Amino acid sequence: LSQFDVLALRREFPILQQHVHGKPLAFLDSAASSQKPRRVIETLEDYYRRYNANVHRGVYRLSEEATFAYERARGKLARFINAASQREIIFVRNTTEAINLVAYAWGGANIRAGDRILLTMMEHHSNIVPWQLLAQRTGAELIYLPFDGQGRLVLDDLDRLLDERVKLVAFTHQSNVLGTINPVAPIVARARAVGARVLLDAAQSVPHMPVDVQALGIDFLAFSGHKMCGPTGIGVLWGRREVLQAMPPFLGGGSMIDLVELDHSTFAAIPARFEAGTPAIGEAIALGEAADYLQEVGLATIHQHEQELTAYALERLAAVPGITIYGPPAGPDRGGAISFSLEGVHPHDVAAVLDQEGVAVRAGHHCTQPLHRVLGVPATTRASFYLYNLPEEIDRLVAGLHKARQLFA
Ligand code: PMP
Repeated sequence: LSQFDVLALRREFPILQQHVHGKPLAFLDSAASSQKPRRVIETLEDYYRRYNANVHRGVYRLSEEATFAYERARGKLARFINAASQREIIFVRNTTEAINLVAYAWGGANIRAGDRILLTMMEHHSNIVPWQLLAQRTGAELIYLPFDGQGRLVLDDLDRLLDERVKLVAFTHQSNVLGTINPVAPIVARARAVGARVLLDAAQSVPHMPVDVQALGIDFLAFSGHKMCGPTGIGVLWGRREVLQAMPPFLGGGSMIDLVELDHSTFAAIPARFEAGTPAIGEAIALGEAADYLQEVGLATIHQHEQELTAYALERLAAVPGITIYGPPAGPDRGGAISFSLEGVHPHDVAAVLDQEGVAVRAGHHCTQPLHRVLGVPATTRASFYLYNLPEEIDRLVAGLHKARQLFA
């Protein structure tokens, strides 16, 4: 099926070796959080065992080593997304914090009453709620680009929605529910034409496909380490240098200052200005290792593997009686997250039956309540794929769905 040896690669992931309810674990929930290869776990452990010390402040050996490794990780992440400079990489906790940082710092300085922020109807709550809070503070207005019956953004509606009142367009690169890979170039071109900035939520794209921020022509990119074989508690905000440099701080405290007087302070240059307090040092270093790992396997190869798994899964799932699959058909704009409903069976019951078979999937609204309102269901079941998944695991998913129908429908 694929150009690389998935079985060999799976042996690098200790967690995948286990059995659940007596069955080999089939982990089909990487859209929520991915598993970690041994070398990432060992990198984290090595930091805590051998050179744990705070960064940027010490002149002693351990602190210098930690600082060097932390800054080297920043460089790895910059190369991973082809940033023009490693100063453009801000370490944050996750995608959610990255978007909140932009909403506070950039939004506070640039958004006024009457301005508009254009989102889409398929956004994760983390790309909706920070903008709602900003809109409430400033009197700005949120408007939404709809998606069609196949889960694709209705680009024709950009004519109606985009005018010079729109100061920011923020949208997801790949939907965590519909699997849609959105077309960035035409949206960026249209946003630029009215002078709007563009933020891309890359939580579901950076782990799964080559992403080049310079080629995309965007202003901000947000992603999470835990979805790309890295640890929890570490993520990245990338911003174009001149945009970040013009932004006031987000959180205040240690490390982000230049001079502190009793009544005011001046602030450090980027990236330090946006990294107040002690960062997640070991986690950032381990994320750098995860980026190296993914690059060694090859993002294009990973993407191709997932495209093949997705096409196979869509074909096999379509043959399950009573199933409704959401999102586009197999094709270049269809990524490896597949949400579905099974007639007469609650999504949580579907997931519980699958769990008994050792198949891990997610059930719920997947932090996308507005999207689910469009679908007309409160919840769905979602299977999602990553580099370590096998066609056999999709066969087991399908067999589990037949079983769920026998039990419930
Ligand atoms: N955006 C999208 C598209 C996501 O899938 C997720 C994670 N489900 C997030 C944002 C939020 O990521 P995190 O919880 O790591 O901040």
